[in-house]
Amino acid sequence: MGFIYMKKLISHDELKSAYPLPEKYALVKKERDKQIKDVLAGASDKFLVIIGPCSADNEDAVCDYVSRLARVQEKVADRIVIIPRIFTNKPRTTGEGYKGIAHQPDPEGEPDLQEGLIAMRKMHLRSITETGLTAADEMLYLENWPYVEDLLSYVVVGARSVENQPYRFAISGMDCPAGMKNPTSGDFSVMLNSCSAAQVSHTFLYRGYEVRTTGNPLVHCILRGAINKHGQYVPNYHYEDLVRLLDMYKKRKLANPAVIVDANHANSNKLYYEQPRIVREVLYSRSANRDIAQLVKGVMIESYIEPGSQNIHERVYGKSITDACLGWKESERLIYTIAEHV
Ligand code: PEP
Ligand code: MN
Repeated sequence: MGFIYMKKLISHDELKSAYPLPEKYALVKKERDKQIKDVLAGASDKFLVIIGPCSADNEDAVCDYVSRLARVQEKVADRIVIIPRIFTNKPRTTGEGYKGIAHQPDPEGEPDLQEGLIAMRKMHLRSITETGLTAADEMLYLENWPYVEDLLSYVVVGARSVENQPYRFAISGMDCPAGMKNPTSGDFSVMLNSCSAAQVSHTFLYRGYEVRTTGNPLVHCILRGAINKHGQYVPNYHYEDLVRLLDMYKKRKLANPAVIVDANHANSNKLYYEQPRIVREVLYSRSANRDIAQLVKGVMIESYIEPGSQNIHERVYGKSITDACLGWKESERLIYTIAEHV
């Protein structure tokens, strides 16, 4: 019964000094942060493409994947800001299964938090120094933030966390754009309440301190589809959904209204190959309505080197071991399509 304290883990200061971000790349990150913040604040009309595997399970495959993105980024730099999805922690619907590299650095092995924290930082760091692209990660465990806060350009609060006060409060103190997903129930007001909460200042217990946050003006919405009471997926990327979100935004006093459409999860009915069609529909909705074009500032795509997904034991290089992903060829083509239509 109870908690067994197995070992004291490396501190964030120790991890940062063991794997520091070189000065040159700190400057690269500063520039990237500005580009991304400008899009969300409406100062730039570029489009965000947050793209990468459901789970960043393998450092070599992820860095290979991100280096491919970097080559595409150069070609579409006048229209698109690509943010690699390097998600190091996975929420699981039933609590079972692979929980991300920060938990299980070897996907088939036992949890190892010490090696996991190291693997998480190393992967983000290597990706930045090899490609110049800074990534998005999900803030599933708020304790992880100080281990990577100098590396991330975007954070996500997932569908199962967005209703919870500790996430909202912690995000209110982060100097980093944050996307709040709609909850699995699909209620837009929960997502917008989360934005309202995280945009203002809070005082609370944080890492053994009483802290006061500044509020985060770059918190915004992510639409990922919903599940109804019969367990069926209900998409929310259609034109009418976007208009409804716009109307709800208008009734609130939120800074920087914005939405990113997640093309997978309950929006694709978990059919990864539907993502290009869904993204094209979102681009069409933008072209039909100026206000929607301003509101929809990007898309999120689950993509890896190989299409589909595999059982954790198969170990095919660059193939997802969690949600099925679009393969590289289709992903590259989709980014060029997006560039033509934004
Ligand atoms: C994900 O982005 O892989 C994910 C688990 O998302 P959600 O929180 O929307 O289920
Ligand atoms: Mn996923």
